[in-house]
Amino acid sequence: MTARLVPEAEEAVRARIAYFRDLGVFDFYRREGCAPGDTLTATVTDTELDKSNVIAAVSLTEDESAAMLAALDLEPAPFMPRAQVRPQPQPVLIEAATAVAPKDRAAALKAISDDIGPCTRCALHKGRHSIVFGDGDANARLMFVGEGPGADEDAQGLPFVGRAGQLLNNMINAMGLRRDQVYIANIVKCRPPQNRVPEPVEANTCAPFLFRQIDAIQPEVVVALGSTAATYLLGGKSPLAALRGRIHYARGVKLIVTYHPAYLLRDPRQKKEAWADLQIAMAELGLKAPAK
Ligand code: URA
Repeated sequence: MTARLVPEAEEAVRARIAYFRDLGVFDFYRREGCAPGDTLTATVTDTELDKSNVIAAVSLTEDESAAMLAALDLEPAPFMPRAQVRPQPQPVLIEAATAVAPKDRAAALKAISDDIGPCTRCALHKGRHSIVFGDGDANARLMFVGEGPGADEDAQGLPFVGRAGQLLNNMINAMGLRRDQVYIANIVKCRPPQNRVPEPVEANTCAPFLFRQIDAIQPEVVVALGSTAATYLLGGKSPLAALRGRIHYARGVKLIVTYHPAYLLRDPRQKKEAWADLQIAMAELGLKAPAK
């Protein structure tokens, strides 16, 4: 059944839907206590809409939803990957990448670092000693992304230089590469207190700079180390086990998800699994493990 709104309410609903769509929200839920169809009656007013955090509450099947859009004369929502419309964590989308010539990539990274400046965009700046921007070859074919700096990284201003970094170096060497041939960065560039997981607001504030680093370097493969990296690179949270073992895409680049080295230090039995993930990356890069 397609119910009609009074014209003023219809206009308010139309504007509100457009507003939420601009924010990337496409799913609307029924408010408690409303029977299906109730809220599409003339009782919906601007004032009522203003009080609500959700758009005119409707309990609709897909068909009813299509009918409502038709009744409101709205285009169907443009396709967005499911992961990007789920509530949180949501990375901030930035402009599409433009190709950076290999000779300009180091300068492009410098420009991003300059844009970050003495950053105070989120609360993490209060406890940091260094902004850990990233490290490695601006023309790397392979990039690793971790979660955020720990104490050693904060002290030295470089990513993955502590115990987890030692293990990451070993993993890189096992792939037949040296650390200076890859690029390493994190979701957040400042150390979270007590090494806690970055809050969504912190990660979403910082991640756009990482996305620009990926766009500048244009690696062939990115390896997400652990759940936080996978979540913000993919734009949605899934169990790590469900993400491992296959190729995803982030910023148009192949993305492999594996365990964080700190987790592997705690549970070395999983190293075999991590090696299997790295072999997917190696196959994509045409790399062979060095003979022992
Ligand atoms: N853990 C991370 O996620 N990143 C680092 O740089 C160091 C440890």
